[in-house]
Order: sequence, then structure tokens, then C-alpha cells
Amino acid sequence: MENAQKTVIFTNTAIETFNLNEQRVFVKRDDLLHPAFSGNKARKFAYFLNHDFPNVKRLVGYGSAVANSLYSLSALAKMKGWQLDYYVDHISAQVLASSQGNYAEAIANGARVIDLSKQTDRQARSCHAYIEQVVLVDDPQAMFVPEGGRCLYAREGIHQLGKEIQDWFEASERATLTVFLPSGTGTTALFLNEYFLLHCSAIKVMTCACVADESYLSQQFSMLIEDSAFHPMIVKTTKKYHFGKLYFDFYKIWQKMADQGMQFELLYDPKGLMCAELYLADNPDTDLLYIHQGGLLGNATMLPRYQRKYPSESVQ
Ligand SMILES: *Cc1c(COP(=O)(O)O)cnc(C)c1O
Repeated sequence: MENAQKTVIFTNTAIETFNLNEQRVFVKRDDLLHPAFSGNKARKFAYFLNHDFPNVKRLVGYGSAVANSLYSLSALAKMKGWQLDYYVDHISAQVLASSQGNYAEAIANGARVIDLSKQTDRQARSCHAYIEQVVLVDDPQAMFVPEGGRCLYAREGIHQLGKEIQDWFEASERATLTVFLPSGTGTTALFLNEYFLLHCSAIKVMTCACVADESYLSQQFSMLIEDSAFHPMIVKTTKKYHFGKLYFDFYKIWQKMADQGMQFELLYDPKGLMCAELYLADNPDTDLLYIHQGGLLGNATMLPRYQRKYPSESVQ
């Protein structure tokens, strides 16, 4: 069954033109999908918005206390009238004290964030194991969403994104298109590539690994779709970057886009933009569409960290 919220969330987001290293790239503005979600998470959680779950009272998730998905799950729970219980390994004092960003906004939405390092019955279990063995037991009214929304439910909303890109591509009468987006769990890139393989093979998807290395990303793809023919291509940087750390190269490329009036987020997009730039340098005649997956709320904490670390660099 579908409800009215579908039309609220899924407007066909705009595609705009920007320059990346003197080359024209298209940007799909999924950051503008809905103010209460990171663009990417709105796609991944669309299934939950588009369907009714009369028996569900509680949403259960886990991950980092600063994750975009914490905030997005809190927004989803609020819209559906559910309680969100979100489990974390620990919360830093800095995050607890902050009045802005994903954690603070999730708490404002009514989320309960449970610090497992303070649970006496944890017994060295992982978040996932604790949730399965303790939290979900005897609660048929709970719905569990794995970390970062890595699950088959995500397919529905991501295929809708694929359809929007396909419609634009066909109307533009281009011969081919490369869609680029940075990956965390890789769920978005994978289901998008699957959609194009099934429905529009002139479009291919490329991605890069932001949270761990490339072989880990491939493993994550395999957990959702075993057949590697469906896996997107992964572009690598020569230098290794650690997730959540600050790099001058990241700040510079972020700023180049900000100077054009395009604000990206600071965890995934800098590496994504660098890899897109690398790919374009080797393949200059490519029509490239970069997906802006939102996440700007996290800039409230990330941007001040960059400004403190590189004070001589002027931003906006
Ligand atoms: C969650 C998120 C990602 C990663 O998405 P995956 O589907 O896990 O690869 C990328 N960018 C932004 C802004 C996100 O919020």
C-alpha cells in the first residue's frame, strides 16, 4: 500500500552543470530531495515511507553517533510515529556537547541513542549481535535497519533514482553517461548500477571507497548481490585517506565547488570529487553525472574543524 508521503519526498530533483578541473560535469541535486533527510538516505529509506507498517512501533538501528543515517532514521521515525532506538559503540564528549549536527538534531527528533559501552549486559558483543540477541528478542513491533541502511529494502528508492536519471539521459540524446557517487556501504552505487544494467545499459556507475579500502567495498557489494557482474567500477586514489580525518586536498576540492556556489558535504564528497576528477583526466570526453547525496547537516561540525586546522584558507 502506498501513502501520500511518496509525493512529498520524491520530486524529480534537478540536474545542474558545474566545472570540475575545467571540465563540465552534471550534478544531480539529491541534496534537495527533502530537508529532513540526507538525499541518499531519503532514497534508501523510501521503501519505509512508501509503505504502511501497521505492526511496527519501534525502529532499531546502529552505527556512528555522527552518522547522516542517525539523523535520517530519526526523521523517518518521527514521520511514521515510531520510536527510534539507535545503538552506538560510544559517544564522544564533544558530540554529546554539540548543539548542531546529526546527533543533536536526531535527539531533537526524539531519538534514543544508547551507548553500548555503558550497557552492563553487553558481554563484548558487537552492536549487531547485541541488537539481534537482546534488543529484538520478543519484540515483534520492532523493525531493524542495518548500519548505513545496507539492506534490500534500499533497492526500491534507489531504482527510482535510476529511473529519474534514465529519463533525463534519454531526453538529452547522449550516447553514453557515467554516473559517479562516493560509497560508504556501497548500497546506493550497487543498486543504481543494477538498475542501469537491467534498464539502460548505456549508463554505467563508478564509485570510490570512502570508509574502508576497495576490497572491503567489494565484499559489501557481494553481501547484497553476489554476482560481481552487477558491481560498479571502483576508482582509486594513489594516496590512502582515512574516513573522518581532515586532509588539505579534501578541503581544497570542496572549496573549488563551494566557489561555484555548490556546497558538498565533507565526509564522502571530497574523495568522491577527487576520484571523479581523476577519472575525467584519463577519460576527457566522458559525460559525467555526479550525484550530490546530501549530508550537509554534518558540515555544521566538520567545517569548523577544517577552519581551525587550515585558518589561512578562506572559505566562502
Ligand atoms: C550515507 C551517505 C553515503 C554513503 O552511501 P552508501 O549507500 O552507504 O554507499 C554517501 N554520501 C552521503 C552524503 C551519505 O549520507
